[in-house]
Amino acid sequence: MATQDDIDEGDGRAVEIAGHRLGGAHFTIIAGPCAVESREQLLQSARAVAAGGAAMLRGGAYKPRTSPYSFQGLGQEGLRLLAEARAHTGLPIVTEVIDPRDLPELLEVADVLQIGARNMQNYALLTEVGRCGRPALLKRGLGATLDELLMAAEYLLAQGNESVILCERGIRTFETAYRFTLDLMAIPVLKSRTHLPVIVDPSHAAGRRDLVLPMSLAAAAAGADGVIVEVHPRPAEAICDAAQQLPCDEFADYAERVHAVAAQVGKIPATGVTA
Ligand code: PEP
Ligand code: MN
Repeated sequence: MATQDDIDEGDGRAVEIAGHRLGGAHFTIIAGPCAVESREQLLQSARAVAAGGAAMLRGGAYKPRTSPYSFQGLGQEGLRLLAEARAHTGLPIVTEVIDPRDLPELLEVADVLQIGARNMQNYALLTEVGRCGRPALLKRGLGATLDELLMAAEYLLAQGNESVILCERGIRTFETAYRFTLDLMAIPVLKSRTHLPVIVDPSHAAGRRDLVLPMSLAAAAAGADGVIVEVHPRPAEAICDAAQQLPCDEFADYAERVHAVAAQVGKIPATGVTA
């Protein structure tokens, strides 16, 4: 059940994540690589984003790939590395669940379970994640309406899991100049329909590094509760999503600029330090 502490501050309810708050008056940057590729790659990313102002670390150990022949993630080894990165930086871990059978291992490591766009309407997965009670980050499906996203969120809420974060990550349109079309209107509309925090993923929406900063600034200006952004020590060598990941050495400047816009609309930048 939500406590009075959860009912905040500003324009919505904050979700409590390992002593951190996402939503309400806070603006949270979740950053890290698309996929966990190696110990060195993950720890370098984790240190860079922790030092640069991220409040949480992302990284996929299980990757939902369009082709079954593409890299599917390091699996349990990836989870072990995420645990190590958390021990080094103190940042809570956001990582994707694609199969309920992986939940026992994921629950050892994940502070937030990400449900990817391709699984937004995987109702068996939603029900299991709802049951397990861990905070969930639910991404909008590639072709899902906001009603469908909210109904998918209900599957989590109906199991008693009230720690749900919604994520706009771009939808498919006729435009081909970028990977997806970031639907920024989803932010105020979702916020008018629910008290759940709403964040934006500019990386997967754009598919292009150069669009990540402007779309993050726009998301912050439109009232998002945070962003989830891909960062890699050597983006050109990334096993997946090479074109959209920000280099680690640009992250601090990126975070400072996004936090500045968030502050303009009354949000307090969340830090990696436990509140
Ligand atoms: C991801 O964030 O790693 C991802 C696969 O994103 P999406 O589900 O939005 O495509
Ligand atoms: Mn990715």
